[in-house]
Amino acid sequence: MNVHNMMEDLVTAEVNGLYEQVKRDKAAWLSCDCKNCRLDTISYVLNRIPPKYVVSGRGVTHSNEIFSDHQLIADISAVAMDGLRIISSTKRPFHSLPREECEVQREENPSFNFPTFTGYLLDGSTFEPISGAKVLLKLDGSPVQMVDMTWANPTQTFQSTKGAFTFWASSLPAVQAGESRKFEFEIEIEAEGYEKSFHYFDVPIISDKTKKSELNTACSIKIRDIVLFKREIFEEDMQN
Ligand SMILES: [Zn+2]
Repeated sequence: MNVHNMMEDLVTAEVNGLYEQVKRDKAAWLSCDCKNCRLDTISYVLNRIPPKYVVSGRGVTHSNEIFSDHQLIADISAVAMDGLRIISSTKRPFHSLPREECEVQREENPSFNFPTFTGYLLDGSTFEPISGAKVLLKLDGSPVQMVDMTWANPTQTFQSTKGAFTFWASSLPAVQAGESRKFEFEIEIEAEGYEKSFHYFDVPIISDKTKKSELNTACSIKIRDIVLFKREIFEEDMQN
């Protein structure tokens, strides 16, 4: 005897229908419509609605019953739409493989795109730039990943660039475009002869439809100048 969850048929039909509709509407947030994405969306829905089991072969009459339940179909449709959005915006392992069955060409994922952060490191008594300092950008206690290998974190300061440092953090996934979130960054600085110091700054970001990979120079945040004090001076002050 085999049992079968009638909801599978209904949900599969509903999810496939939604994918076709969203593709026709050319929704910007749809990143992929391959078989795996569809199966993930179907699982998402099936895990959120009560199953309805029947013995295989006796399904026909029940099937008609379910397919004509308009409230049930409306509910499934709403859950399926949520699932489709979430699956479409979540990076999953199989997506590093070529998406042979995917007909959506755009690589669009809702993302929090960061501007570049620029700051200067100065000596507290001379206001001269400090070179050779190690500057580390952190978010939630961990070093922040940069957009690509051309950016370093930790980065280093140089005399020739007047103690400047710049970061470009890699985008973070958002559920949808227009989401607003405040990111609290931390900068950790180590420079020889100076006290180790920590600085904090907040960046409010509104998510975009796509992940940005081109640098817009207008899109930059200047962090307050960071002033470091020599260790000896600091220690003398402590003794006085
Ligand atoms: Zn896919």
